[in-house]
Amino acid sequence: LKKYVNEGLPKESDMEIRESSIQLKVPEGCKDSILLKNLYLSCDPYMRNRMKKLETSSYVDSFQTGSPINGYGVAKVVDSTHPNYKKGDSVWGITGWEEYSLIKAPASLFKIEHTDVPLTYYTGLLGMPGMTAYTGFFEVCKPKKGDYVYVSAASGAVGQLVGQFAKLLGCYVVGSAGSKDKVELLTNKFGFDAAFNYKEEQDLGAALKRYFPEGIDIYFENVGGKMLDAVLLNMRIHGRIAACGMISQYNNERPDPVHNLMYVVGKRIRMEGFIVSDSYHLYPKFLELVIPFLKEGKITYVEDTAEGLESAPAALIGLFTGRNVGKQLVVISHD
Ligand code: NDP
Repeated sequence: LKKYVNEGLPKESDMEIRESSIQLKVPEGCKDSILLKNLYLSCDPYMRNRMKKLETSSYVDSFQTGSPINGYGVAKVVDSTHPNYKKGDSVWGITGWEEYSLIKAPASLFKIEHTDVPLTYYTGLLGMPGMTAYTGFFEVCKPKKGDYVYVSAASGAVGQLVGQFAKLLGCYVVGSAGSKDKVELLTNKFGFDAAFNYKEEQDLGAALKRYFPEGIDIYFENVGGKMLDAVLLNMRIHGRIAACGMISQYNNERPDPVHNLMYVVGKRIRMEGFIVSDSYHLYPKFLELVIPFLKEGKITYVEDTAEGLESAPAALIGLFTGRNVGKQLVVISHD
């Protein structure tokens, strides 16, 4: 990252690629460290906030300007002085946006045990976004069969899975997305009952009324702003909102006001924010549920792949214009 971008859509020129040479081994005397060869990097919306100079306390820190961006990724251990990792292990978790990363005392890495599935899935379906869909939907929303569920940014890394989880449970599910192709994916590939392009709706509240004449039981919130206002009008009594993210606000210096918050009272809505990393202790339980679904073909997952580190800045920025179709990842190397 060259400089902080507090407002507006970041530009590719806000980031740059630098070259330096390293030895492909953990340096002498560096205990409990691993050297990773990065294979796949994950582009995630929360990274936008890290591009700001954050003044107030947040669950994440600002990136350091002049240093490599870090974030989730999939990597292979090429050298290790850590007792829990050996050369050849595959891992997912926090790594650098670089070809090789030296990680001292790794605390945010998971060893990949199931290697008979595409390793790219550990940037999405079997990684952080998958866990987000799982915790947000099952732990926060506490869904029941027959619930009316609405998902915004529904074709993305998290949303496509929330919709499929909801269908597997027997809910009625509607999703919204920002293009005709994405809307088709929702109904034809992910099995949503209905979907609409929110960019084509003059009145979002009226659109939701059309799809949920009896109201929404569960809203999986990915977008915020005007979308949240429209949803609040259409929630049912005792509805639940999992506040997962509010991507429409991330390029703003200050968030837009929400006008319909008062409905939370009258409709007795439970709205709960969550951060996925608080729930990583549930990861084994999540894999137990998802891996069989995946192998039986009951869950599918769409990825959008950019090739090479030089394509990473545009891929990251593309999340905020809706360029990505499915989980956005960047391939650094295939092995
Ligand atoms: P996506 O793969 O869904 O990519 C982002 C998508 O958001 C874009 O493709 C675009 O789709 C949509 N979007 C972008 N700008 C806007 C806008 N102004 N208004 C409406 N939609 C917009 O991302 P993820 O699935 O990875 O993330 C989804 C949400 O989940 C984000 O809010 C993210 O911050 C949050 N999140 C939260 C976590 C947590 O721990 N709480 C963890 C991971 C993610 P479209 O074309 O449909 O507009």
